[in-house]
Amino acid sequence: MINTRLLQNTQENLETAAQLIRDGQLVAFPTETVYGLGADARREDSVRAVFAAKGRPADNPLIVHISDLSMLDGIVKEVPEIALKLAESFWPGPLTIVLPKQDCIPAVTSGGLDTVGIRMPSHPVARKLISLSECPIAAPSANRSGLPSPTTAKHVMDDMNGRIAAVLDGGQCEVGVESTVICFDNPETIHILRPGLISQEDLTPYAKRVYVDKAVFTQIAPDAKVSSPGMKYKHYSPKAKILPVDAPDFESFQNYVLQHQQNHTYCLLFDSDSEIEGIPCLHYGDSGVQQAHDLFFRFRELDAIGAELVYVRMPRQTGADLSVYNRLMRAAGFEVIRL
Ligand code: AMP
Ligand code: MG
Repeated sequence: MINTRLLQNTQENLETAAQLIRDGQLVAFPTETVYGLGADARREDSVRAVFAAKGRPADNPLIVHISDLSMLDGIVKEVPEIALKLAESFWPGPLTIVLPKQDCIPAVTSGGLDTVGIRMPSHPVARKLISLSECPIAAPSANRSGLPSPTTAKHVMDDMNGRIAAVLDGGQCEVGVESTVICFDNPETIHILRPGLISQEDLTPYAKRVYVDKAVFTQIAPDAKVSSPGMKYKHYSPKAKILPVDAPDFESFQNYVLQHQQNHTYCLLFDSDSEIEGIPCLHYGDSGVQQAHDLFFRFRELDAIGAELVYVRMPRQTGADLSVYNRLMRAAGFEVIRL
């Protein structure tokens, strides 16, 4: 057990956190998507400590965060024209671009792959921490592996207290789900490995073809060969059993859950839905953007209030909403009730 310092967002604390990173320690920090668990991406010992603190499988690669485009040169072998255009349009922001890595990024960071996912976050605390640390920062979400990603400093403390050097508190994350991860099958094809706020539609003007990996929609066998190793693990899941219900309307959803409630049953509803008599309900927004912001927060709330079974209203699968659908289905192990 180590003493985990909870640091408020001050210049002095940012400098302390940057020194910890330079010393090879682990610091959790806010980004616009979720909180990240940061370490110097070039140091094997520090990156190994990230995997250990999270309990993360070694073949699940970390995303490397930069604060300036000039840092790319030292990390990746080449930056194709299409990547440069996307970086100009979407960075800083919630887009991760997978590119061939240089040797300074060790295999532990890339999960043994010869590519690395790079992102320039927009959160000012993240930007300042990276630039003060003077190194690329490898940062997965700052949760224990398998649990919902943290969107507040308290969530990080709940999972990581005693395991890491410090947590920088930057308030609640704006986006709420992890970045969109893309790679290029060829110079004209964008392959979406993980959906995020930046949608297929947003990326369409930049390539001849943009498509979403099938692992976003279906469960992948543990021994399957996948483009993005994170896809095969159960993920994002609270302790409570999450059961999405694909219902044509609120009335049919309500009828179903009233007939199928068990001990400690809760519902996670859209904001526009009414309450259900006899079943405690939380709400997670009507739009995909609001649902993305709220989903992991509600998952952690549901665990805190003792939910054991949670029926969830099914989000849409279009635009940014696909990121919510994907996290929900992963949390449910792709089990769904279709009415
Ligand atoms: P997390 O750190 O929890 O946000 O997860 C990062 C995810 O990004 C991983 O689970 C992978 O699916 C994906 N990823 C990161 N780097 C690569 C890479 N080099 N190739 C393919 N997918 C990657
Ligand atoms: Mg994660």
